[in-house]
Amino acid sequence: MSNSTSVLTELLQMIPHWRPQMYFKASLTALSHAMEDQVLASSEPPLVIASFQRERFYRQEAQRYRKIAQKTDQVYVLAAPETDFKNSSEIYETIAFKPEDKLTQEWHLIVITNDYASCLICEERTNSDQDQNGNISMDNSRRFEGIWTFDRQVTQQAANLLLNRIVAYRPELHDKISQARQQYLPSALLNEEFKILQHKKAANLTEDSPDINPDPFVQRLISYLQAGQYKLLKANRSLEGKEHKERLINHITTAIRRSLDPEEILHIAVQKLGEELGVCRCLVYRCKETDNTAKIEHEFLNEGISSIRGQTWPLKNNPLFQEVIELRDALMIDNAQNDPRITKTASADTEDQSLETLITSCSILSWLLVPILYRGRLLGMLELHHCGPNTVSWKNEDIALVNAIATQIGVALIQAEAYSNLQDLNEQLEALDRTRSNLVAITGHELRTPLSTIQVCLESLATEPDMSPELRQVMLNTALQDAERMRKLVQDFLTLSQLESGRIKWHPEPLDLSECVELSLSHVRTRHRNDNLPEITNLVTSDLPLIKADGEWLVEVLAKLLDNACKFTTSQGDVTISVAHAQPTNLEVTVSDTGRGIEANRLETVFDRFYQEEGALRRSTGGTGLGLAICRQIVKGWGGHIWAESEGKDLGSKFHFTVPIFLDSIPKRKADLEPSMPKNKLKKSSKKRSNK
Ligand code: ADP
Repeated sequence: MSNSTSVLTELLQMIPHWRPQMYFKASLTALSHAMEDQVLASSEPPLVIASFQRERFYRQEAQRYRKIAQKTDQVYVLAAPETDFKNSSEIYETIAFKPEDKLTQEWHLIVITNDYASCLICEERTNSDQDQNGNISMDNSRRFEGIWTFDRQVTQQAANLLLNRIVAYRPELHDKISQARQQYLPSALLNEEFKILQHKKAANLTEDSPDINPDPFVQRLISYLQAGQYKLLKANRSLEGKEHKERLINHITTAIRRSLDPEEILHIAVQKLGEELGVCRCLVYRCKETDNTAKIEHEFLNEGISSIRGQTWPLKNNPLFQEVIELRDALMIDNAQNDPRITKTASADTEDQSLETLITSCSILSWLLVPILYRGRLLGMLELHHCGPNTVSWKNEDIALVNAIATQIGVALIQAEAYSNLQDLNEQLEALDRTRSNLVAITGHELRTPLSTIQVCLESLATEPDMSPELRQVMLNTALQDAERMRKLVQDFLTLSQLESGRIKWHPEPLDLSECVELSLSHVRTRHRNDNLPEITNLVTSDLPLIKADGEWLVEVLAKLLDNACKFTTSQGDVTISVAHAQPTNLEVTVSDTGRGIEANRLETVFDRFYQEEGALRRSTGGTGLGLAICRQIVKGWGGHIWAESEGKDLGSKFHFTVPIFLDSIPKRKADLEPSMPKNKLKKSSKKRSNK
C-alpha cells in the first residue's frame, strides 16, 4: 500500500517546465502557517490536506488543525505514527501512513476554496541531519526542494494525487473523497489535457489570474519574517558579545603569557581588565588561604578614584574573603553598604570593624571578588570596585569574563613559578658542575701534595729497616699530619659542596648570641690547647636582643673566624670579638685581630675557594683555604653579609658579618624564652659539627 514515489516527483512529471525551488525548514514553516492563517481568515470552507513527515511535527500544529476543522469537514491530515497517531475520523480525517512510505520525506499542504487555491509540495533533499536511527532533527536549517504556488490547476493536480493516496490507506473514505473531488476539483483536467494546458502556460498562450485575497497570507508571512529577523539579530548580538569576550580574553591572555615575571603578569592583567570593564578600581594580589593580610601593589584606577596601593588589605578578618575561599567561586555584592556580612562585622565589638572603615575609606559601593585558583589552590584574588554614586548590578557575562581572566592569570603565575623553579634548578646544576670541576682541581693540586708526602714517608719506613727510632717517629708524625690535612680538606670540601648546591636544610631558631660566642671560643681553645694563643677579648654581652639563625652553623662561622684570627696573629697580639646593634633588624658581629693583616686587593679574594696567601705548598698554618668560602655561604643562608677589613700588611684584620634579629622577641627578655631555648641542643649539635 505504501508508495515509493514522491508526490513531488509525480507532480513534476505533469509540469515538466516547472523548476523546483530550495526551501529551508524555517521558510516552509512560515509559508505553511501563512497558508493556514489564510484559511482561518477566509469565510469559504476549504479542502485542506496536510502531510507531515512524522507524528511529532503534526503534534506541534494539532491545535491549529482543530481550529481549521471548525471551518470545514474536508480536512485530511497525514503523518507517520510515532506514539498514538492512527487512522481516525474524530475531529478531522487522520491518515497514518507506513514508515517506509516516501511521504515520510515529504511536506505537503494543500488549500482549495472557491476563491483561491494554493499548495506547498516539498521533499526533504538531504539526509545529513538524520541520525543513525533515521530520526530527523528539528533543526531549522534542514533543506527541502519543491514548489509553492497559487496555480489552481497545479494545486488541484496535487490534491488529486494526495487524495488517491488517502483512499489507498483509508478506502472507507471513498465517498467523502468523491464528494471533495466534486466540490473542489470539478475542473481537474485529465492528465493529458493538464499537460497541454501547462505547455500553453509555459509559452504564455494563456493566463491564469486567480482572484484571491492574499492579505492574511502576506501579513502572516511578514510577521514570520520579522520574527525570524529579530531572532537573527538577537543571535548575532549574542555572537558579537561572545566574540568580543573571547577577543578580550585572548588579548589579555597573550599579554600576560608573554611575561614570566609574576609582578608584570599581575600589572598587565589589572590594567587591561580595569580598562575593558570600566570599573572604578581593579585590584589583584597574591595570597594564600591562611594569610592574615595582603599588600596591595597592583591596581587600576579610573579618574577621580583614590589609590590604595601600598595599603594592607585584611584577609583573615574579612568575611568576604573567607566566603570566597569556601565557595571557591566569585562573590558579588551590589551594595556593600547594606550587605549584612559587612554591617554585621561592623556592629560586632571586634577588630573586624575595620571592614566597614575600609569600605568607607575606599568608597566601595559595588564589590566583586574573584579567586585566582590553579587546580583548586588559591594563588590570589581579583577585586573590582564601583565607588558610586549609584550601585551596580554585576552582570553574569562580566563575572564570567573576570573568572576567565582569573583562570588565565592562575595559569600564567604557575608558568612563571615553574620557570623560576627551573632557573633555580639550573643554578643548582651549575653549582654542582662547578663543584665537580673543583673536585678535579683539588685532586690534582691539593690532595696530591699530602698524599705524596705520606707515600714518601711510608715507603722510607718500609724500605729502610735501619732507620733510627727518632727519624722513624718523625716520618710517622709527618705522614699522620698530612693524612689529617687530607681529611680536613675532604670534609670542608663536602661541606662547601652541600652549601653551594642549596641542599642544606636550615633550622633557624631564636638564639642568644653571647652563648654562641662562648661555645665557639671554647671550641677554639680546645683546638689550640697546645698552642700559644693571642689574648682573646670577648665584648659580646648577654643583654642583646635574640637573633634568628641556625645555631649549629652560627657557631661554625664564629669558630672559623676566631680560629683564623688566632692562626694569623702572634701570641703577643690581641683578638677581640664584639657586636654592634647599628641597624634595627640585625646585629653586626666583628672578629678583629692585630695580626698579619690583609692587603687591600685581597680583601675580597680571601673568600674565594682555596685562596691562601702563602699558597698550598708553603702553608704553615694548616688550613684548607675553604674556611672563609664556607662562612660566606652560611651567612648568605640567613640573608646576612660577610666582609673583611684591614689597614694593610701587619696591621691586623677585621671580619664582620650580620645576623638577623628575632623580631618577635625584641621587647622580650632572654629569660622569657629560656624554656624554649635549645641551649643544650645547640651545644650538642655544634660539638657534632666541630669535629674538623
Ligand atoms: P684557611 O684554611 O687557609 O684559613 P680560609 O678560607 O679560612 O682558609 O682563609 C683564606 C685565607 O685568607 C687564609 O689562608 C689567609 O691568607 C687569609 N686570612 C683569613 N683570615 C685572616 C686573618 N684573620 N688575618 C689575615 N689573613 C687572613
